[in-house]
Amino acid sequence: MADVIVVGAGNAAICAAMAAQERGAEVVILEKAERGERGGNTFFTGGGFRFPYRGIEDIHALMPDLSEEELARIEVGSYTEADMRSDLMRVTESQADPAMVDHLVGNAYDTVQWMSEWYGQRWVLMYGRQAYEVGDKLQFWGGMITEAVGGGEGLSEGQFEAAERAGIEIRYGAKATALLTDEQTGRVTGVRVQTSEGLEAIEAPSVVLAAGGFEANVEMRTRYLGAGWEFAKVRGTRHNTGEVIRQALEIGAQPFGHWSSGHAVAWDLNAPPTGNRRVGDLYQKHSYPLGLIVNINGERFVDEGADLRNYTYAKYGREILNQPYGVAFQLFDQQTVAKLRDEYRIREITKGEGDTIAELADDLGIDRDGLVRTVEAYNAACQPGEFNPAERDGLHTEGIDPPKSNWALPLNEPPYFGVAVTCGVTFTFGGLRIEAKTSQVLDTEDRPMPGLYAAGELVGGLFYHNYAGGTGLMSGSVFGRFAGYAAAEAALGG
Ligand SMILES: Cc1cc2nc3c(=O)[nH]c(=O)nc-3n(C[C@H](O)[C@H](O)[C@H](O)COP(=O)(O)OP(=O)(O)OC[C@H]3O[C@@H](n4cnc5c(N)ncnc54)[C@H](O)[C@@H]3O)c2cc1C
Repeated sequence: MADVIVVGAGNAAICAAMAAQERGAEVVILEKAERGERGGNTFFTGGGFRFPYRGIEDIHALMPDLSEEELARIEVGSYTEADMRSDLMRVTESQADPAMVDHLVGNAYDTVQWMSEWYGQRWVLMYGRQAYEVGDKLQFWGGMITEAVGGGEGLSEGQFEAAERAGIEIRYGAKATALLTDEQTGRVTGVRVQTSEGLEAIEAPSVVLAAGGFEANVEMRTRYLGAGWEFAKVRGTRHNTGEVIRQALEIGAQPFGHWSSGHAVAWDLNAPPTGNRRVGDLYQKHSYPLGLIVNINGERFVDEGADLRNYTYAKYGREILNQPYGVAFQLFDQQTVAKLRDEYRIREITKGEGDTIAELADDLGIDRDGLVRTVEAYNAACQPGEFNPAERDGLHTEGIDPPKSNWALPLNEPPYFGVAVTCGVTFTFGGLRIEAKTSQVLDTEDRPMPGLYAAGELVGGLFYHNYAGGTGLMSGSVFGRFAGYAAAEAALGG
């Protein structure tokens, strides 16, 4: 018998486990995947974290190794708590739960510091992904400028090593199949687990659920996100199949959040059905603000420049799924090809080229006349102005629908380059309701459920319609950490 059981072994789970242990609890982690597939979606991430910072001094405090030359060359600006709160409310169309947003924003920077201090997490600036050369400076943009050293793999493996060092027991191949409750009080008393040896009941006074969303469950995806979602590719682990959410609902937990929505992006057309641990997140194609997106008929269907990439990418996967055959094409010319992110230079890419737009269309299998018509109309609609990819530069089109609101350079410098993409689902937005400060699960009458806590992607209420890049890991760390504290204190009677 442990003091705290944590279900799942991704970022939210390990932060919960470490925090519970920090408070003196004996912790056991139950992870469905075998050791070779450990780390959940966290392993597949870019490791990017969104948190407020006052300026370079806060970044330097996290990265004491930054050299004088680097400090002189970079421009990180500031990202205040008010900025982060406003971004989270704006992208969620003001639906995000204000108490959760406040708790997240108010504890984010402190939590990345806690990760450094408590288990030695190291951080780097996101040079390749969140910065552009502007004049003689490297200008960072988009509110998320920091990643864990080694990306998602580095983050996850470092967390496992730290948990092992700290003596936390991690049981792999251990799938939670039900939550145990006291027959008289209804209090959660443990977890029923399935392993290769059979079923087992493991008891503990506190249980933290951190088993991810339901994105890898085709039945739940189609039931909740809607028709057509069967065809989305899963970007991360095949193990986030939603049964732990169901187990909590079965004992009276409150469903919360945007159940019919999820995070979904442009993902290579020929990527495998679920994540590949070697390629990781590089099937994603996130440089579309520098070019055009068309469907197989050669028609545009979104404003590629509506906002900085971090604030549009998570909702454009859904738009791609709605196109004929669920396919789209991102097109670039020589003005921007050199600025494309690293993921455009991997071997596993579905690409095409052409010296003319017609040749590009033929190479990618897009309707030729349709594409030529679209590009001619788009080029004619581009207005003069100064191009700056590191901020909303206002370089826009006029007289076409959809418009391109920023970074609208004409597509007219051959040779042209394009990639074929489909919808890659990252995680789902619907989940359990928690009390913001303690991460304790609430029942359908808004009462805290004794012994039950939750964090990470299986919690609802923070993400609606859309998402601001880097918030998934950050919220998993914050709500995981506070779940761990509260679970330990309840278990130890503190
Ligand atoms: C390709 C990709 C890139 C991403 N990049 C970023 C990024 O850079 N920044 C960011 O903030 N977010 C990113 N995300 C989103 C990010 O993955 C999540 O926000 C975060 O990693 C989720 O952590 P978690 O702990 O909630 O879940 P996970 O890390 O998915 O962990 C859940 C764990 O629960 C286990 N589990 C499931 N069911 C059971 C069960 N019945 N019993 C026991 N265990 C179970 C799973 O096997 C899994 O290990 C990315 C996601 C993907 C897929």
